[in-house]
Amino acid sequence: MKKQIHSNITQLCTLILSALLLSACATTTYSKKATQLYVFNCGNIEVRDLSIFTPGTNTGKVKQMTDSCYLIKHEKGMLFWDTGLNDSLGPKGVDAWEGKFHLSVSNPLSTQLNEINVKPSDIDFLGISHFHGDHTGNANLFTQSALIIQQEEYDAAFGDDPSKAGFDASSYKDLDKSKIKIISGDLDVFGDGTVVIKRAIGHTPGHQVLFVDLDESGPIVLSGDLYHFTDNRTHKRVPSFNFDKGQTLEAMEQIEAFVNQKKARLWIQHDLEQNKAIKHSPAYYQ
Ligand SMILES: [Zn+2]
Repeated sequence: MKKQIHSNITQLCTLILSALLLSACATTTYSKKATQLYVFNCGNIEVRDLSIFTPGTNTGKVKQMTDSCYLIKHEKGMLFWDTGLNDSLGPKGVDAWEGKFHLSVSNPLSTQLNEINVKPSDIDFLGISHFHGDHTGNANLFTQSALIIQQEEYDAAFGDDPSKAGFDASSYKDLDKSKIKIISGDLDVFGDGTVVIKRAIGHTPGHQVLFVDLDESGPIVLSGDLYHFTDNRTHKRVPSFNFDKGQTLEAMEQIEAFVNQKKARLWIQHDLEQNKAIKHSPAYYQ
């Protein structure tokens, strides 16, 4: 009888131990925090002559575009992708490029970050698709983040004459004090393949796009300005002001092959119609 009780207790102990081990394993599995992607409206762009983006067609046609920027919260840190138009433009905005564009900001990025309790100084990495002013507008907020930039973009943006590449150096001047990681290719930011900066040059000397792989929402590529709207993706049109047409077409081909291989969605950052169907901060994707 004593032996039987002892055996029962041993069995019970084994059961409890197994349950504890299982729950420990389960805790380990679920303790990996899912990566989250926040989308912000970082400005509005009215194009007064669309043919700038579609050489040979759409002369004089007016088109509204949006200007998106993004926050990726990964368990190993936070990456901000593109910084939109400068908050100070406000809802009235200004004309730019001899009146070819009208630029405005309805809701400041700083307000949108406050809303989700994130300070620019909390951001570990700053990825900027390219250094045109509608992507570097609020870059000076992120001096405490490590900037990740392609070699050619760095040379153009921080060289003798950034205006030659169409860059407005004042919009990112404080970043020269930042930690800067210069790359010539792709970079797996957190080392697990879920957040990867991909070289896609041509729009500017060192243009890049961002791949984000989310547990529930799946793989997404953020376009930078590889395309500005869906119709240009369909027709593979290259805007007249791109740095290099051949490189742009090559980048389009490479990124499309990557999108197909990953079965990813391509989110076109300036595409107003596409962005209407995308949920914006404080909601997020994970
Ligand atoms: Zn742009």
